[in-house]
Amino acid sequence: MEPWDSYKVKPAGFIPSNTINNACREFTVVTHTSHVESALGIINAREIKPGLVYDKSILNTERILVSWLSPNHWHPGYRYGNIQFEFDFFKISQGKNFYWVEVIDYSPHACRILITDKSHDGQLQRYDPLKGNGPWWYDERSNKHFFNGDFCLEFMIEAPVELSKLTSFSFVDHHGGMCSAHKNNIGACDQLGLSASAGGALFFARAIATGVDLSGLATFLVKPDGKAGIYLQAAYEHLLYKAYRPPPGFQFSGSLDEWSSDILLTHARSFIAAYAYGRQDDAKHYHGLFKSEYVFRDAIAAVVAESLKINWRRLFEDTI
Ligand SMILES: [Zn+2]
Repeated sequence: MEPWDSYKVKPAGFIPSNTINNACREFTVVTHTSHVESALGIINAREIKPGLVYDKSILNTERILVSWLSPNHWHPGYRYGNIQFEFDFFKISQGKNFYWVEVIDYSPHACRILITDKSHDGQLQRYDPLKGNGPWWYDERSNKHFFNGDFCLEFMIEAPVELSKLTSFSFVDHHGGMCSAHKNNIGACDQLGLSASAGGALFFARAIATGVDLSGLATFLVKPDGKAGIYLQAAYEHLLYKAYRPPPGFQFSGSLDEWSSDILLTHARSFIAAYAYGRQDDAKHYHGLFKSEYVFRDAIAAVVAESLKINWRRLFEDTI
């Protein structure tokens, strides 16, 4: 008997072609999902910095520092935030040592495996993914990784995870009633229940308000033809139409229409900063300074593009 036996992947003998066997899901990538402020910290540091384990883990009295990655997808919404960093699992796991850490009785149960360059023999039990008798199975014959999706598989990486290894960057829905960062005070999470597009808008707004350089994300957010990818497009449309809701019958009537004017961009940044930190009255004030919706749209596009250090003119051509 091993402690991971009851969480093992279960390849099924026969599965109808239109169904997924959740107990044996192939995965090639793992993700780290976080709230906006942590995500901006990761981008500034260019890596996910490992931290101490605080929950009821057996490692919470150890000095082992870990970064968290997982192959799981969460419906309806992630408890960890709206911002998702994705990495190639083959590169993350290659040549490493694997140790079984524990199962935590969250719902669903969280199975934790440590991935490390170090030896923890004598402290933790080694986990061999080749055996296929636990929640993570590496099938050497097909060169494929599988996990049991009925549980939450959490990889604890005993190292920083560098953003140079990033394979994708996206926005996801935050769960409406659960938050891993504010377990004891759920109301303190300002992203609780935010959709992927709202989380994306908040991400851009706070990055712009605090001057975070997002140029390293452009390859993941912009298509090769120079147009916005779906996540960037959705965040932009949220900034345009939902960041501030004008009263019924509102008409743009401000004087800001000179496109080359620096003041136009200054006001667009001010509008975004007001939204970023919940100052609705300021957002209303700055919104009202624009002469037309077209000017407002272009100015917001230019400021978003500026944060990514790319050209704005083609970026949001498909905006309705
Ligand atoms: Zn939260």
